[in-house]
Amino acid sequence: MKILVLGSGQLARMMSLAGAPLDLNVTAYDVGTKNIIHPLTGEIYAQDLQASIAEVDVITAEFEHIPHDVLELCCQSGKFYPGKQAIKTGGDRAIEKALLDESNVPCAPYKLITEKSHLIEAVALLGKPLVIKTCQAGYDGKGQWRLKSDDQIEQIWSEMADFIATGTDSLPHTIIAEKMIPFCREVSVIGARDKQGNMAIYPVTENEHTNGVLTLSIASEICEKIQLQGESAFKKLATKMDYVGVLAIEFFDVDGTLMVNEIAPRVHNSGHWTQQGCASSQFENHMRAVCGLPLGSAELLRPSAMINVLGQSSIPTQVLTTPDVLSHWYGKSQKPGRKMGHINISAPTNEALAQKLESLAKVLPEEDYPGILKAATLLRS
Ligand code: ATP
Ligand code: MG
Repeated sequence: MKILVLGSGQLARMMSLAGAPLDLNVTAYDVGTKNIIHPLTGEIYAQDLQASIAEVDVITAEFEHIPHDVLELCCQSGKFYPGKQAIKTGGDRAIEKALLDESNVPCAPYKLITEKSHLIEAVALLGKPLVIKTCQAGYDGKGQWRLKSDDQIEQIWSEMADFIATGTDSLPHTIIAEKMIPFCREVSVIGARDKQGNMAIYPVTENEHTNGVLTLSIASEICEKIQLQGESAFKKLATKMDYVGVLAIEFFDVDGTLMVNEIAPRVHNSGHWTQQGCASSQFENHMRAVCGLPLGSAELLRPSAMINVLGQSSIPTQVLTTPDVLSHWYGKSQKPGRKMGHINISAPTNEALAQKLESLAKVLPEEDYPGILKAATLLRS
């Protein structure tokens, strides 16, 4: 079977690697250059999206910021999963919040902003501090403001107004203000839903962000109450969207109650540990779902963790000599802070995983790989 992935980054690359044993052949569409390329080698095959759409059996996406004309073309083919609406929902916080409200899934209280008076109303309604985000752009914490005191309103509004002004009639730019949630930790739930509505949901993952970027994830035995809340949100949202593929949901854990932060209609960085913690990774299950194959198991086989490699072009050799530790590189040129690859770690027990993390912390410095020792402590708590 031939699959075209919209987007040609590391997620398309890992879908291609997971699809190969199932005889699923992935090509990738580079939205920037408009080339159809090999997702591993970057070799350019063609520059004809229409011909490629006609040739493949299935189309999917690795990210949500896809030009609407491209989405339209893909949808017309009848081969595109998870579908235009799901991609648009993930790419626009206003549509996403409406879906959460309609599905009765709790999220951070919010107010949409298109003019200055809305910002002042948001401060009165939601209180301070506020987290303010662009609805249609932004990733890794970019496109956000924190409003802590009234004297910031003028400055933040002028920056927001510049963003709103770059919108067009067909693609208006809006902003959302959210109440700052006093969470005790951030978690995510990733699952797959197939064309018949069957679902495979991975265990809740605990995520560490540093400066708005995911730095580390841990998947270990999780409290049942949290798992059930995550699964319930997943089932409601995936069913409501008649979703096909892998869907990720990020949550704030507020003293044992989950509140959605955002959703991603795709495989997700916080699910990379599934490559070695589960029988079927998120990449394999996404490929299975969109290709009409039965889903594989999402059960946790052994406690696992993932460390992002940000801005580094290599890792110390001691990492790879540690048993059950594997690196995954994305084949990208080095830039400060760029997601270059990740390291997956597994162990038979939480204690053994904690010990492994402690030995990795000796060669992976805290300033480049934050949170490793904290994760070891969490695994013991
Ligand atoms: P991603 O790369 O995950 O798509 P993003 O840029 O879309 O990130 P968010 O996930 O919305 O942005 O926010 C980034 C981080 O900022 C969150 O992981 C969380 O730590 C913090 N944050 C966002 N919204 C809130 C909120 N309402 N209250 C408290 N913290 C928040
Ligand atoms: Mg996020």
